[in-house]
Parts: sequence; structure tokens; C-alpha cells
Amino acid sequence: MKYIFVSGGVISGIGKGIATASIALLLKAAGYKVVPLKMDPYLNVDAGTMNPLAHGETFVLDDGKEADQDLGHYERYLGESLNSTNIATQGSIYLTVIQKERNLEYEGDYVDIHNVTQEIIERIQLAGKANNADIVVVEIGGTTGEYQNVLFLEANRLLKLKKQNEVVHIHVTYLPVPSFLGEMKSKPAQMSVRDLHSVGIQPDILLARSTESIDAPRAKRLSFNTGIEPEDIIPAPDVKNVYEVPLNFEACKLTDRILEKLNLKRKKTDLAKWREFVHSVEIAKVPIKIGIVGKYFSSGNGVLSDAYISVIEALKHAAYTVGYKPEIEWIDAGKVEKDISLLKNFQGIIVPGGFGSRDIEGKIETIKYCRENKIPYLGLCYGMQLAVVEFARNVLDFTNANTTEINSKTKYPVIHIMPDQEKKLLEKNYGGTMRLGAWDCVLQNKTISKSLYGKQRISERHRHRYEFNNKYKQELENNGLVIAGTSPDGKLVEIIELKDHPFFIGTQFHPELKSRPLQPHPLFTGFVKAASKIKK
Ligand code: GLN
Repeated sequence: MKYIFVSGGVISGIGKGIATASIALLLKAAGYKVVPLKMDPYLNVDAGTMNPLAHGETFVLDDGKEADQDLGHYERYLGESLNSTNIATQGSIYLTVIQKERNLEYEGDYVDIHNVTQEIIERIQLAGKANNADIVVVEIGGTTGEYQNVLFLEANRLLKLKKQNEVVHIHVTYLPVPSFLGEMKSKPAQMSVRDLHSVGIQPDILLARSTESIDAPRAKRLSFNTGIEPEDIIPAPDVKNVYEVPLNFEACKLTDRILEKLNLKRKKTDLAKWREFVHSVEIAKVPIKIGIVGKYFSSGNGVLSDAYISVIEALKHAAYTVGYKPEIEWIDAGKVEKDISLLKNFQGIIVPGGFGSRDIEGKIETIKYCRENKIPYLGLCYGMQLAVVEFARNVLDFTNANTTEINSKTKYPVIHIMPDQEKKLLEKNYGGTMRLGAWDCVLQNKTISKSLYGKQRISERHRHRYEFNNKYKQELENNGLVIAGTSPDGKLVEIIELKDHPFFIGTQFHPELKSRPLQPHPLFTGFVKAASKIKK
């Protein structure tokens, strides 16, 4: 088994996750079984207890693991479903070490920080073994030079000592082009390599992130100052479309440089489908306007798009595949509540997942607008639950119907909590205890969902505590709500639709988590097609 470590320097947010996903894709396309592993420096045991506004989306895996959003990049680029062996937080590593100590598994030894490093190495090897890897690509979270990720780098150093030709270190660094100078500066990148030297690591390859491609004189200077060969300094300029990144790396011979260092031969180059998708992005001209209605977040648009990155990517996959250029806009649900006309220019509307009570009424107004005006609507998790609330209030006249997440005393709790979930909340047992991961769902005949999926039984990923209340099922159905999918035992409602509406679908699960550029999700494709029929 071979190992690639990917670290980041100078600043956070330079696209280490995309770089890692791209490297994994390129080596897979060269004929190897590649397994990505994200090692995150934080002490949270998983990403489920972190605020997505500050840390980005929680990406749920099939086995229920609540992972970092980078796992989403890996799945989208590799076109494969990953599992809990593909992610390790420092918190989960410490937890294992402490649990082992409590179980006397160290047989009376003194337990210290070296056991933590050893546990990191074991996790890396486990990721490889459990998934039959030829190559494990480990993304080290955080930035070099900070304390938090130093043990991951130490694990890298130790592995490299034992396996000289089997470990490669790729450093993603940043070269600013300050506007007051107008030229690219390499000093911060030199310093970030020096930070790696100080922990005993000489990087083999440098990915030079910048607004533009690094030129030859600068690459030479950087090479001289870092000891990295000029051909191992790979330009990584900004791109309009992140799916171009692997193709740019391939053109700069990154794959060949890695294979040579690992003593491996290229078996094939399987990038034709990827190129086709990137081409479809380049040629898409006809815009399609989609609105995503959610809470207002003061942190600004950049952060927002990270909190819902899978929804945005799923929309792009579907739109480009059917030949449209998606124009996606975030709309503050609080403003919609006061002025519904904000929605009038959109051809399709999504209410994504969410928690809590803020701006709920604006979302419900949005759903009412889509239902009454026959605007294509896709409700994801909370967006499905609130569609049931809206229908109960406005079609059945159930005054103040609600989900018990918002109003536990409502006369019409059309969305409610299951007893086992309620117990967990009472015990403050929050971490990793929602209904999580992949669950089977059986689709009903003669529904839009069934015709889009083209099969009876599907599997989709969940992350929620509340559920459709079956007590109201009959009455809702009698009035035009369609139960399009349920759990195989029929007890949990998983998809709702509306009769006499061109496209109104709410899912209790998160279809966006399974959409990939080369396999767009059928519900998103159906949504985009329906939206394309709406005139602006
Ligand atoms: N807040 C809702 C629940 O817990 C929906 C969660 C979500 O949208 N992921 O059930």
C-alpha cells in the first residue's frame, strides 16, 4: 500500500479538499484503487456537533457517519460512496486512545502522546485495508505551522521513515498577488515549506495555488528555496468551475510525477467522461433561475454556500447534464415573509434542510406560493416537513398546525418526534443520535418520484429527529397530498408529492448527498426539467 499526504500552507480555504479529491480521481483514472481519508484536527468526535455556518455542511455517509464537507468532494470526484473509515477527527482518535487505556489494552504501560500518533497511523492503515486500497490519500486538515495538526504530520514523518518509496507528501500552498504590487510573491509559500521542514518533512510536490499560474522564473526561485524540483511545482490557478481542477493537474503531469515517486506505472487514463461533463459546463448557455429559500445568515454568501454546498452542487450536476446554466440565488426567508414578490423571477424553488424556528414562517409562505402558483418545488428534509405543515394549515384548515420542533403544544402536530428520539433529547444525548445514514424507501406506483427513479426501491441518506405523523396521513391524502415513498415497513413517510402540480416533491432524506457530476440525482434532474418549462 502506498500513501500520499496532502497538507495546506499559508491560509485556510485554498481548496485542499478539491485538490485531494482531484488527486484521488486522477490516480483512480490511472487504474488504481484509491481511498481518501480526511484527518481533521478538531476535538469534536464527528462533524455533527459543529455549526455548519462556521464549519460548512455536515456530510452524512451511508453508514451514518456525520463527516466533514470534504467527504462530499471526495464522493463527487471519485463517484463512490465512502464510509466512517474515510474520516478521522483528532477527537475520535483521542477518544479511542482513552477508551483503550480504560480497557487496559495498553497492558499497564504509560500512555502518552506517542500512542496518539500510533493510533493515527493505525487509522490510516485501516482506511487502506478496509477498502482494499492501492493508494491511501490522506488530507491533513488545518494549516502547517499551527499546533493542531502536528501529530498528523508526525504520523506522516514516521510512516515515511519506515517506507521510503511508498510515501509522498504534497503541499498545497498559496502565492498571493497583492494588488499594490501587482506581482505574485512566493515568500509565504517558502515559509510554509519551512514549517514542514521544522517537523521533519520535505514535501515532494508543491501545488501552487494563486489567482494565476506560477511562471517559470518564480517556480525556479521557489524550487531553489524549497528543494523541490521545478517540474514538481504544479500551477493551481483559480478556476471558474472546480471540476476543471483535475484536468488542469493532468495537463501539468501531476499524475505522472506522483506515480514516478511511488514507483508505480500508469495502467490507463480514464478521464473521457469527466472531460465530457466539464465540456457540458463550458457550453451551457441557457440560464435556469433557481431560488433557495432559507434563514438569513449574517456571515455572508461565501459561508452560506459552504453550508449548503451539496445542494448547490447537485443543482449544477443536474442542470449541466440536461443542458442548462444554473443561476442559483439565496433568498432570505425572513424577507420573503414580508414580500412574497421576491420569488416571482424563479423557475424553481428549493427549501433545504434546517433546524430551529427562525424564519420558519417565511419558508412556509414560500411553499404556499409554490403550491398555489404551480412553481416547481423541491423540499429537502425540513423543506418536506414544512410542506406538510403548510398543506395542513392552508388546505385542511388546521389552524396553527406545526412540527413539534417549533411548537410542542400545537393542536395539529403533523410532524412530530419519535419516542426514542425524545428520550435522547431529554438525556442531552445529542452527538451522532439523529436518524442517520442510508435507509431504504419503497416508492408508490404512479408518482413522479417513481417515474424519475425508474425503480421501486431506493436508498437515501437521512439526518433528522422529527417525522411525518401518521395520525394525519389519511386526511392529508384525502385532500390531495400524495405519499410517494415510505420505509419498507410502511411506517415512516419518506417522500410527499402533490396531486395536480407539475413538480412538488418533499423528501425526508437528503438526495443532494448522493448526486455526482457523472451521476446527477434523478430528483434534481426532474426538478430542473420541470423548472425549465416555467417562463420567467
Ligand atoms: N429539523 C428537522 C429534524 O430534525 C429537519 C432536519 C433537517 O432538515 N436535516 O427533523
